Amino acid sequence: MVIVNRFRIESGVKNKQPTTQLDVKTLLNRIQRFVGFVYQSIRLRGSGGSQRIEVKIEPHQGIRAKCSTCLRACPGYDVLEERRWLFVSLWGIAVHFFYPPRRVECPEHGVIVEHLPWSQGKRPMTTAMMGFLARWARRLSWRETAGVFQTSWESVYRSVQWFVQWGLAHRQLEGIEAIGIDEIHWSKGQRSNNFLTVIYQIDSHCRRLLWVGKRRTQATLRRGLAALGPAVVSGLRFVCSDMWQPYLRVLAAKAGHALHVLDRFHITSHLNQALDQVRRTESTRLHGEAGAKRLKKMRWKLLKRGSRVRGQARVKLYRLVFSKLATGRAWILKETFEHFWSYKSLMWAEAFLDYWCSRAIRSRLEPMQKVARMLRSHQALILNWFKAKGEISNGVVEGLNNKIRLVTRRSYGFRTFNAMEMALYHTLGQLPEPESGHRFC
Ligand SMILES: [Zn+2]
Repeated sequence: MVIVNRFRIESGVKNKQPTTQLDVKTLLNRIQRFVGFVYQSIRLRGSGGSQRIEVKIEPHQGIRAKCSTCLRACPGYDVLEERRWLFVSLWGIAVHFFYPPRRVECPEHGVIVEHLPWSQGKRPMTTAMMGFLARWARRLSWRETAGVFQTSWESVYRSVQWFVQWGLAHRQLEGIEAIGIDEIHWSKGQRSNNFLTVIYQIDSHCRRLLWVGKRRTQATLRRGLAALGPAVVSGLRFVCSDMWQPYLRVLAAKAGHALHVLDRFHITSHLNQALDQVRRTESTRLHGEAGAKRLKKMRWKLLKRGSRVRGQARVKLYRLVFSKLATGRAWILKETFEHFWSYKSLMWAEAFLDYWCSRAIRSRLEPMQKVARMLRSHQALILNWFKAKGEISNGVVEGLNNKIRLVTRRSYGFRTFNAMEMALYHTLGQLPEPESGHRFC
């Protein structure tokens, strides 16, 4: 320890560089220098809470302005009124750029505003500031981001929008072999508008959100597949989905060449829903009777995988299971089904599925019978899971779903679909980012 410290001190003395008197202009030139422009003057204005730093920018005398469309140097035409852009704040003090844009006469594009490397269209923020806010908006909620950096929710939204649009335009869609399709519920209510269809890439080397669309109809999924493009769809080897009929129809028609797998996560959740329904019906029926006590506060213990229930909870669970209540019988059926996924041979898995379904149908538990009938009618797609074994891991869709829930919940303030769509691409799309010379955060 001591030796290391001494070494540092000595080397620090030896390599001592000449220091410069630091002014803000030096800093700005160090972090982002724009070819063709110079920072002319920098002033601190206002006082107290309204302090701000004003940075005046001037064109470089020897360099001609460029056309904003083709980036070619062109002869000048005129000068427009001075505009203002918000830049990343310095020590909590807001920083603004001021510059009167020139217009140039481009041989190809006519009279047009010059290219400004810090600006994007008519937006009132510099690209550096938009990138700064967008990066923070992935770690904090948008409202928090706006609060911490003293800007509006709207500004954060616009920044994320710019970031995401850039990312979507520059992302690579080559080499996608496996996709998962799912429906997500968002906002309050159960109307069709409260559902989203999401398409994930679930390859082992890349897991990300590819597309999100309103509702969960055949038309929605058709739009999604069209957005990915025919090259992506024809390259698919595996498609993973729920038993939702509209999806099954579209996938059979549009991606029939890929192996269609009904995934484990969804089948498990159907079983859990059926079990929960049996419990609810029974506890209503038994209301006030002796058996009702056994069903109290059992919901989560029942829905968890049996092997994960420990201690006192396990004792209570087993008491319920052996009590001959309908809920206990439904739990045994749910728990037995787990066995299905452990088969190595397709033949044995098929035999097990057949056995399980006939047991469930004889159980006289209506919700369980319903699941059994559904599994029977989709037997081929369920057994595809064994053909795809090792190629797609079953936890992926579930994991991505949980992340989506986190975003939709955290962003409860998203009243519009557009804002939520942006947030989902932003956090789960693994989009490329616009490059910037300096990373502000
Ligand atoms: Zn041009």
